[in-house]
Amino acid sequence: VKFASRKDGASVMVHNDQFVPLSSLGWSGSLLQLIQFGQTLEINLEQSDWRPLERSDLAAPIPNPPKIICVGLNYRDHALESGMAIPTQSVIFTRFNTTLTVPFDPIPHDSSLTSQLDCEVELTVIIGYSVCNDLSARDLQLGSDTGGQWTRGKNLDGTCPIGPWIVTRDEIADPQSLKLGCLVNGQTLQASSTSEMIFGVQEIVHRLSHWFTLEAGDIITGTPIGVGFARKPPVFLYPGDVTRAWIEGIGEIENQIVSSETNEVIA
Ligand code: MG
Repeated sequence: VKFASRKDGASVMVHNDQFVPLSSLGWSGSLLQLIQFGQTLEINLEQSDWRPLERSDLAAPIPNPPKIICVGLNYRDHALESGMAIPTQSVIFTRFNTTLTVPFDPIPHDSSLTSQLDCEVELTVIIGYSVCNDLSARDLQLGSDTGGQWTRGKNLDGTCPIGPWIVTRDEIADPQSLKLGCLVNGQTLQASSTSEMIFGVQEIVHRLSHWFTLEAGDIITGTPIGVGFARKPPVFLYPGDVTRAWIEGIGEIENQIVSSETNEVIA
């Protein structure tokens, strides 16, 4: 079963491009509250009142997660293309909720802030699975003046589309054998498999919960090979470009980069 959030505020169950409001199944809260309360729903696919799903009506599945935890360099192929050593400890960093974007809405691009915006398709774990594009401003993340801080480059407003829904764990037999990829303007940039993960989903949840409390609705995510900055020549995203991030058995999200010139330059 897939669960999604709509822009009108409704939490819904999704099946074959149709949806049923969870309110008709006796749940009127958000998806986050559904996970927090561990509510059980009585689902009957045959008897439900299905309505056609328009992808433009979808919101981020969890618009206000307690934490967004990103796992860096956690795919063998991506660590190698980045010229980094295979990590022996999980590399983690965080994103703010202000970076979340709706699955099919535009991504703001402010050229006064970055000229190296880059895509990262990611298997996302939210007590269930989803798709993330961890759009990264490589100049702010990896530039010579950053002092190794990744937080700025990973937190430009609206650069973290997640969705289009949450797929329950029972629908994914093995989260470590899923093909995933990212296309830019229809051309494949990233193509890999979650089998490339250095620390698998179970191991990551185990390690993170060792260091700090994981709460219901927390989001955990990380990318494989093919990102733009590691290519020769590098590929970055500019207004007009369209990214499509997909994962086998879960779904896809598609976002256009749009110009957003609102900030003055800080030298
Ligand atoms: Mg990432």
